[in-house]
Amino acid sequence: MSRHLVFLGPPASGKGTQGRRLAEEKGLAYLSTGALLRSALRDDTELGKKARPFLERGEFVPDEIMVPMVLEWTAAQSDGWLLDGFPRTVPQAEALDADLDHEPQAIILHVPDDELRRRVSSRLECVDCHRVARDGEVETCPKCQGVLAPRADDGSANFENRLEAYRRLVIPTVTYYCDRWRARIVNGTGSPDTVYARVLG
Ligand code: ADP
Repeated sequence: MSRHLVFLGPPASGKGTQGRRLAEEKGLAYLSTGALLRSALRDDTELGKKARPFLERGEFVPDEIMVPMVLEWTAAQSDGWLLDGFPRTVPQAEALDADLDHEPQAIILHVPDDELRRRVSSRLECVDCHRVARDGEVETCPKCQGVLAPRADDGSANFENRLEAYRRLVIPTVTYYCDRWRARIVNGTGSPDTVYARVLG
């Protein structure tokens, strides 16, 4: 398996759950652009101020903001990395390819829309470390004991916007990786362990 991986998939497809686990087990640096943006919003940083209107509407943050931020992070890594939620658009994928000697491999999680809607209605996230949990399963974050709360952007109108943005902007990026024989589409339904076994396979 390549040591430069990108995870693509619709909202609530399990990119964070699978990506974090794979990165931990393979010793890869891990970046979730969504988690990074939510922290920036919470701390009201310059990035947070710029990103807030887009996140509140369920729209993508513009490439001009995302691309330099992520390329700065990848440049600072001395070994392998795994990106969760980047690239989303074709220009983001092109920028990542143009900047690197190595060509990242894409893992695409496929989950039907109805299953995504079901998942998002019960998803919680740790406000500190951004680990995902399911409502009713645990009281506090299993990793850092932080407070678990629903994501502000998981309301149904926002979620439908993100699903629409996925179809319009991310599916062409999936095609970009398929055309270059650098994509693996993984069935993302079933338990986290079942999906993880498929990711490794
Ligand atoms: P989900 O996949 O459930 O939408 P993420 O945590 O991956 O959750 O992303 C949350 C939000 O952060 C996205 O809806 C989008 O507004 C923003 N975002 C994350 N990554 C990117 C990116 N690469 N380009 C543009 N916007 C992004």
